[in-house]
Amino acid sequence: MINPIQPALFLDRDGVINKEVHYLSKIKDFVFISGVFETCRMFQKAGFSLIVITNQSGIARGYYTDADFHTLNRWMLDRFNDAGISLTDVLYCPHHPKAVIPEYRTACACRKPQPGMLLEARDRHGINLAASIMVGDKLSDIQAGRQAGVGKLVLVRSGYDITLDDARQAHHVAENLGQTDSFYKWFIEDPTIPTP
Ligand SMILES: [Mg+2]
Ligand SMILES: [Zn+2]
Repeated sequence: MINPIQPALFLDRDGVINKEVHYLSKIKDFVFISGVFETCRMFQKAGFSLIVITNQSGIARGYYTDADFHTLNRWMLDRFNDAGISLTDVLYCPHHPKAVIPEYRTACACRKPQPGMLLEARDRHGINLAASIMVGDKLSDIQAGRQAGVGKLVLVRSGYDITLDDARQAHHVAENLGQTDSFYKWFIEDPTIPTP
């Protein structure tokens, strides 16, 4: 792959797209954060691929199954489609080093803060990571983005509590992904973000 130009908006799922619920696995508990569709449409229109990058250790811990994850994921993709948004991919890590389910018990390279899923997304879709943005609600999202060489790292306050130290490691902190104006302003006013 030579100099890919395709940028991506990488999104953590829980606490970014939907309200944080511990080990969320049921459609009835999935609540979209308001304004998420508008922001995603804006980046889609600007030429970004939209890719979800999510740790799902609830699978390793036996709280829900891989099939449960996919049922919820298909439902989420349908809701995005209804809103005119096509997600390029959803990458998830089902592992945990102390998994109850033996097949998922591994210190893998994909669980954030490891960068494995971002690198995999780059290889699958020819993404230019330096021209891309990672949005998360935890320091581990930001660390994964940094390790992968993602150009812009954004923390949102809509999920886990963010400390001052966490905030210092991000390029931008927003209340939530639905703050379309904040994202747009930041995006268009920062000349270091290459336009696709
Ligand atoms: Mg999260
Ligand atoms: Zn993993």
